[in-house]
Amino acid sequence: MIALARDLFPLNRSLTGEGVRATLRRIAREIPLDVIEVPTGTRVFDWEIPREWSLRQAYIVTPDGRRIADAAVHNLHVMGYSGPVRARMTLGELRPHLHGDPARPTVIPYRTSYYADNWGFCLPQAEIDTLADGQYEVVIDANLAPGSMTLGEIFVPGETDAETLFYTHTCHPSLANDNLSGMAVCVELARWLRARRNRFSYRLVFGPGTIGSLAWLAMRRDVWPRIRHGLVVVLAGNRAPLTYKATRTGQADIDRIARAYIANEEPGGTVIPFSAWGYDERQFGSPGFALPVGRLTRSAEEGYPEYHSSADDLSILDADALSGSLRACQTIVAALESNAHYRNTSPYGEPQLGRRGIYRSIGGPASGNLQKAMLWVLSLSDGTEDLAGIYARSGLPFADIERAVGLLTGAGLLELPADVSA
Ligand code: ZN
Repeated sequence: MIALARDLFPLNRSLTGEGVRATLRRIAREIPLDVIEVPTGTRVFDWEIPREWSLRQAYIVTPDGRRIADAAVHNLHVMGYSGPVRARMTLGELRPHLHGDPARPTVIPYRTSYYADNWGFCLPQAEIDTLADGQYEVVIDANLAPGSMTLGEIFVPGETDAETLFYTHTCHPSLANDNLSGMAVCVELARWLRARRNRFSYRLVFGPGTIGSLAWLAMRRDVWPRIRHGLVVVLAGNRAPLTYKATRTGQADIDRIARAYIANEEPGGTVIPFSAWGYDERQFGSPGFALPVGRLTRSAEEGYPEYHSSADDLSILDADALSGSLRACQTIVAALESNAHYRNTSPYGEPQLGRRGIYRSIGGPASGNLQKAMLWVLSLSDGTEDLAGIYARSGLPFADIERAVGLLTGAGLLELPADVSA
């Protein structure tokens, strides 16, 4: 995942353009990917796909002849979607177009102007503060022209048409936690999903934030009715514990399972309620679609000091954090896949597990948990609780619940009523 992020880091991603296409080509080397091009001018609900942005070069030459804010040095130096400029101007004229962050004076902030004609440069505030009066040469060699917005989609067919959706945004240039971590986790998740037999079909979508999820929904109207569960995975690679943001209703299966994951398996993790701002979860969950899509991040939005700045670089990606985010997605998938109302075939007290050989089959350091998991599953499998509910109430890792179900089913103590197996 770190190696993929390293390859993707220098590409100049934006809402549209070659940086996104190059990103998807690189991902396609890992795993087959369908590319969806949505032409400029296409209406997607209340939005319209903008012109495609391409940037060849951008820089400022100071009165003493130094080249600063050079996009060739860092993609973040030019404000995303800046229109073309080639002019000489005073510092006073240039100043409104220079963006620094006084609260973090040493970093280059990340700024875009997608939906208003504008241009600008981003620099460390400390550097802006040193600029002297005089004539500046300003060059932005950019093009805004009809083209398309590019999305990628990995489809992993399962035993049923019912689908689980994962979405991650792809529109940020040279930022690591916000957005490369999400892409890296989704690529590895897709690889894992393709290697197993799944009840659900899976769709992993790589697209820009906000308008990208809307464009995908507009292109995939036939898919909406099949989406049973969904998760937006972003900001998944820094060292903070995981944060799950609930779906709009907060009542979906993915909410119950992700809440249990955070409570049982993510020390220090947090669950936050739905809010109407954030990432693409609010599009999927909006009235009309009303899809049960939650969100998994580590720090939430602005909740880490490097957010939306040049400090969000590869150095803040942590291999264990990325693996942990992947493991969370895999566990949530495993719980969604096996969730059902099982029935205890031997009620009236605790069945004698030793006589059936499953007490002795328990060994190793997790044996305590596995024994408890069998007792929880037997106790709650009277038709009132599904496995997601047992997972939540038991406080145990899902892997133990799953193994307990296997052992109990094998011993004939648990069965899946045929009518609720779908
Ligand atoms: Zn962002």
